[in-house]
Amino acid sequence: MAQAIEGGNALLARMRRRPINSTLIGLAIPLLGALLWFAWTFAPIRLDVPQVDVGALPPATPPAAMSISAMPTGTYETPAALAFRGGSWSEKRAFAASGVLVRHPKGNLLIDTGFGRNVEQQLKLLPSLQQSPHHLGTPIIDQLAGVQADTITAIIPTHAHWDHISGVDDFHGIPVLVDDAGQRFIGSHGEGTEVLNSFHGVTYQAYRFDGGAYLGFPSSHDVYGDGSVVIVPAPGHTPDSVVVFVNLPSGKRYAFVGDLVWQMEGLTRPAEKPWMMRFLIGENRAEIQTAIARIRAATTLYPQITAVPAHDRRAFSSIAVYPASTR
Ligand SMILES: [Zn+2]
Repeated sequence: MAQAIEGGNALLARMRRRPINSTLIGLAIPLLGALLWFAWTFAPIRLDVPQVDVGALPPATPPAAMSISAMPTGTYETPAALAFRGGSWSEKRAFAASGVLVRHPKGNLLIDTGFGRNVEQQLKLLPSLQQSPHHLGTPIIDQLAGVQADTITAIIPTHAHWDHISGVDDFHGIPVLVDDAGQRFIGSHGEGTEVLNSFHGVTYQAYRFDGGAYLGFPSSHDVYGDGSVVIVPAPGHTPDSVVVFVNLPSGKRYAFVGDLVWQMEGLTRPAEKPWMMRFLIGENRAEIQTAIARIRAATTLYPQITAVPAHDRRAFSSIAVYPASTR
């Protein structure tokens, strides 16, 4: 004991003689701890998700003429490590920037718009960190080539971020459907709304979640009144994020989940986005965990539902690419 005290005194005396060294050690230990914690936030840890009850499969009576088409407009590059916990730093994922065309006798609509004609100018409005290397395809307005573009009666963004609404600028006068949270988020002019708010003369059309619970989500909005396209609130990635369920005449169903997860691993493992990305975006972790739980439970119980994260090209593989269509 006395030896230990003597040893301690000797150490203190040395530290007094070399105050710079002891300060460096004092700084290095918490810094090393912080670095280890930061590295751990990218580690492959399975996301805990709550048990949820998604109820019965909601009824839908889609008209026989209804169909959907994928409309890819380009991709942007993201390391898998930044897309989900456990992703590799050496693997680059080509994030899809796609819209989905829904053809319906009551009026066609677009779910997200991918890259529009003015995406290069729009990108300049973003922080440089977000300006990833990208590959531009043909904007939806040009794929639809004029006449078909006139058949679009509404656009449903899964949320207001630039890579989902870039093409809104090409569809002047076509209503963009937003709920209360969307109106507040866009109206706040907060981070993530720069590009949408740079557009002139966007026609917003408000809707309310006036329908009941839907596959575990607390409320819903039935766009056509036949159960074929149903929007549910799924805040977390952004306050205005939604999931759009599309139910086809063949019985196939899709859940367009936007950026709830960026790649399928987010749902299948499940693996959340790394802490750094969630922090930079300002995501609400608990809301995302609950929504992931609902989508996982719904797709497990009802395998006719395919979940489609907006940026995972593999998730679109069962949807025909425009002008072909899936019924
Ligand atoms: Zn996105």
